[in-house]
This record gives sequence, C-alpha cells and structure tokens, in this order.
Amino acid sequence: MALDAVVEEVKAKQRVWEKEIEAMRAKKFSTICVHGAYTKHEAIANNQGAVIEPVYTSTSQAFKDCDYLEAALAYKIPAWAYSRIANPTIGYLELELSMLEAYGTGARASACCTSSGMAAIKAAAEPFLSNEVPGKKNIVSMAQVYGGTFQLFSERFAKERGIEVRWVENPGDLGEWASKIDSDTRFVYGEIPSNPGICLFDIAEVAKLAHAKGAPLITDSTLATPALCRPLEHGSDIVVHSITKSMTWSGRAIGGALVSKENIMSGSISDDAKRDFAGYVKLWPLRDGGACISPDNAARTTDCLRVLRSTMDLLSQNAMRVAEYLEGHAGVERVNYPGLSSHQQHQIAKKYMKLVDSNENRYGHLLSFEVKGGHEQARKVLDRLEFVFCATDLGRIKSVAVIPTISTHQQQGEEGRKKAKIPGNLIRLCVGAEDADDLIAEMKRALT
Ligand SMILES: *Cc1c(COP(=O)(O)O)cnc(C)c1O
Repeated sequence: MALDAVVEEVKAKQRVWEKEIEAMRAKKFSTICVHGAYTKHEAIANNQGAVIEPVYTSTSQAFKDCDYLEAALAYKIPAWAYSRIANPTIGYLELELSMLEAYGTGARASACCTSSGMAAIKAAAEPFLSNEVPGKKNIVSMAQVYGGTFQLFSERFAKERGIEVRWVENPGDLGEWASKIDSDTRFVYGEIPSNPGICLFDIAEVAKLAHAKGAPLITDSTLATPALCRPLEHGSDIVVHSITKSMTWSGRAIGGALVSKENIMSGSISDDAKRDFAGYVKLWPLRDGGACISPDNAARTTDCLRVLRSTMDLLSQNAMRVAEYLEGHAGVERVNYPGLSSHQQHQIAKKYMKLVDSNENRYGHLLSFEVKGGHEQARKVLDRLEFVFCATDLGRIKSVAVIPTISTHQQQGEEGRKKAKIPGNLIRLCVGAEDADDLIAEMKRALT
C-alpha cells in the first residue's frame, strides 16, 4: 500500500473514534470521569472488548509493513511506536484529562502525561526559556509555590542558567503581579491553592496581565483537580498537575500532567507549538527528555479518576469540618483553609473553587494550622496523632500530616520559607475519607 493510502486508512478509523469522543465530551463531568476516551468502538475494535482499559506494558508497537512504519514515525498517523513517546494506556489517560480540564469551556485542550508532577512543570516551563529567542528573559511566579517548583525556578533556572525569577510575595495583590510582568516575561506561574501555604490568586485577572505582555499563564491546580477548578475556563493557557496527589488518591502512582488549550499566548515558541502545546511537548521535548509516565501508573490514575467528583466532594466536606473545629480550638493560633471566611483569599476561593456540575463551593482537602507554643509544640501534636500518618504526602484517601519546615521545605532555607510564609509551628494536614467525627476526635486528642 502506498504511504498516502495508509494515512487515509488509519485516519478513517480514527474519525469513527473521534466521533464517539465528541459525543462523550457533551456528557456530564462524572460520565467523562468513568468512560473518558475509552469508547465502545475503541473497546470492541481495538481491545478485544475489554470493559476496562487494558494496561499495555509492551514497550513497543509492531507495524504491518514499511509504509505503516514510515507513516507512524513521521507522525503522519496516530501510532504509539515506543512507550517513551506514546502508549495506548497512557493515551487514554491523556485524552480523559484533556476532556476533564476543558470541561464546560466549549474549547479543545490537549494533554501530555509525565513521570511526575515536577517533570510536567519542567516540561511546561522549558520551551519558553529557549535561547533561540534572543533578548532578556524573566519568569514571574508567586512565591508560595510547591517546594520542588521553588527549587526548580530558583536553583535550576535562576542559579544554573541565569534566568531572572521575579517572586510575587502577595499573590492576592494584582498590583504586585502587574509591577513584575513585562515584555521580557516568558511565562507567569501560579498555584491554586498553593501547597503548603494554601494561597490563591485571581486566575482571570492574572491571565489578563500576562496576556497584555504576550506571556502565557501556567497554573498548577494539583490540589483543586478539575473536579473543583478548571483554570483553562478562566484564561490560563496551560495547567500542570501532580497526578500523584488527589487525582491518584489511592497513593499507588507517581505521575504528572500538562494540559494546554488551543493557541496559547507566547512570544517565544513556534506557531505549531502554540497551536497544540501539550502535543508539541509530547512529541518533541519530552520524547528527547525521556520523562514518560509508566503505563501501570497511568492505569492506576485512570482507576481513581472514575470517582474524582464524589471523592473530592467528600474529602472537601471532611476538611471543612476539621478546619472549623481547629479554628475554634484554644491550642491553635491560626487555621489556613480557603473555605473559612477568615482566610485572606476566601473571596477568590469562592470565585474559583466549586464542585463541578453544581453551584456549591468546595475547597479541597488540604489545610494547615499554626500551633500555639511554637515548633516544639507542633512536633508534640504531630507525634500524638493516632491514625493520621506523619508523612510528606498529600492528596490521599487517608489523612496525612507533616511539619513543612522540617520536611518538604527544609531545603528552602530560612529566607525562602520567610518569603513563602512558612513558620516552624505550621502543621500541614491533608484530610482523608475517614469519618469526620473520628478526625475531629483525633485532633482533639493531639492538641490536648
Ligand atoms: C507534589 C506537588 C508537585 C510535584 O509533584 P510530584 O509528582 O511529586 O513530582 C507539584 N505541585 C504541587 C502543588 C504538588 O503538591
């Protein structure tokens, strides 16, 4: 068969699948969570009717003949060739994430999964920092980002590569964002809500400021998940996730995702890359960088995603009850939870954090609180916990707690922690699906 005929044959099959995916996109969020892009045609024609997506652990794909091989390797037909570049199990997850992240926007998104959340953030940031575009460059980011992201920007980018990083210390202050973003800004970066500071920023307003200077907005919405917030809807160009966290609440996989909308804003990447940024990252820089997710991990995430909406709903409701209890406790100086009206950015949280397909606010399951009596007292509280594990983990179906200054943010140094506003008496608590009464009793015991 000639090359063109091969391309036509494969594309015709593809169109049948795309039509089914199109129909799925019109369904409610939870239906997409359950089925994603694994449609009837895909199951019966390509997967022996398997009800659940098979896990393709095979590293590579065989081709019928040289024409197929040539078309596939020229990226002319959908194929997967080799699992570092693509894999069917990973492909199902990527399609589902693109559907969930673009849900309700009427627009298209594309997604690319990575070996971890940090790999997704690095893969999202690096294309904008290319030296192919001459001139000065800076990145503008809120200071309260995840510890790994802080290190990536300050050590890998600023120290090692000389890229100027402008930290926004008060992300609720639009004036501060505006004063730091300029025409040399390659991208603007925010986290909603941030880990562990639980700060928020006004996505739509910051996106406007970034776009006015030709820069894209990258939003890490790991803690919200698309069940509670979809930044693309509000003007963000790219969303990054550590799917290791709430999206894979079972705690059985490490992975990341980068989701982009069509035609993102940027003055420093090619038109092709702007049109389908996640697709570009997947086929070029990530192929060369090698930070692919494993099919096993992708399947574990897919399993958890099926009940993402109801899980995030339950976890958020539990967290709200625990936060309210802690706020009333005499041994607690301050509780940081976006659902409390005492939270500095409660209004922003109200605007952006809503349970999808409802009008109800849900604020996620991460909270933090400052213990009266300083760092030593915080250690005692943590050590007294009975079933809440002490772990540098979050996003689990099980409650976990940690003191950031001696764990996740140890390497950031005193100055970095000050910038990110992380005191020594802060305990980060990620609330799980245990009964809320037991969780409150647990807190009572530990604080007494
Ligand atoms: C954990 C986390 C990351 C990094 O993800 P990994 O999967 O651990 O690499 C990035 N952002 C946020 C908000 C996180 O909580």
